[in-house]
Amino acid sequence: MNNISPSAFTKAALEIERRRSEAFQTLEIHKAEIRKKAPEIDSLYNRILQTSIELSKAIISHSGNIDKIIDELKDKNLQNQLKIRIMLKEFGYPDDYLKAKFTCPDCNDSGYVNGSRCNCFNELIRKYTISELNEGCNIQLHDFEEFDLNLYSNLPDEQSGIVPRERMNTILVQCKNYVDTFSKESCSLFFLGKTGLGKTFISSMIAKALIEKGFNIVFDSINNLLIKAENDHFGRSDGNTVETIINADLVILDDLGSEFSTPFNNSILYNIINSRINMEVPTIVSTNLSLSELNEKYDERIISRLTGMYTPYRFFGTDIRQVKRRMMNK
Ligand SMILES: [Zn+2]
Repeated sequence: MNNISPSAFTKAALEIERRRSEAFQTLEIHKAEIRKKAPEIDSLYNRILQTSIELSKAIISHSGNIDKIIDELKDKNLQNQLKIRIMLKEFGYPDDYLKAKFTCPDCNDSGYVNGSRCNCFNELIRKYTISELNEGCNIQLHDFEEFDLNLYSNLPDEQSGIVPRERMNTILVQCKNYVDTFSKESCSLFFLGKTGLGKTFISSMIAKALIEKGFNIVFDSINNLLIKAENDHFGRSDGNTVETIINADLVILDDLGSEFSTPFNNSILYNIINSRINMEVPTIVSTNLSLSELNEKYDERIISRLTGMYTPYRFFGTDIRQVKRRMMNK
């Protein structure tokens, strides 16, 4: 993990600290309860604490038959711990009721294991870095219930015979299923279709539902993300947008084709798409451009990956903004 944003690091450290103090607060509540309701367990618990103090004293003093003393104290401690577990059960408590319950058992919510950042800490830094990146996204997020199939015609298209409402219903069902079964091994999707057919709307529904499920999702227009990447690259900001995008659980790149075609943009795009394919993690790309327009605008390496490795969803119908306007004027 390079170029960690200081604010994401601070938020992650505060969250770890919050988890740790919450674990100890709960333990204190449990102890107080046991003190009141089962004093015999409480006195045994205090004896363990006393033995632990004796143990550390013995280790520091280095006197007499130190190994024998340490072994005896350890043995005594284990026996008392076992007794406590049995007694807790007898009193109707879980046998670990007097142990602090940490969110992360690897680091006991300290954030570090053997001097290195624990996975839980890195995971939180990643989460906050992504939410900072998404803060700049001005696409509104929507729920699945908001999608209105009635905006799509139920009459077959004269040329293709495709019924827009049926096509969109199929896509809607598939996207719901995508969300329900989503994992880091899910497939990548390529949303194609003219402007105003609901690609961004459906993308925002997927993003919202998966963020609510706790996944780390990057969702923004390609144009916005590339501007951020450019700002990082030229030192105008201190983030690492490309690395954050590459490492997210799901990346939704909206509106491919809206960005300026520059060598910098093309190489960043290729890097993101290719890296995520190599890592076998899912990406969703949407575009208003036709395949021939895409072929004109992009390097063959980008197009071959999008058309060869992504599952295409072809949106169909009439621009729903026009449909809405017509309905309003009726
Ligand atoms: Zn941890």
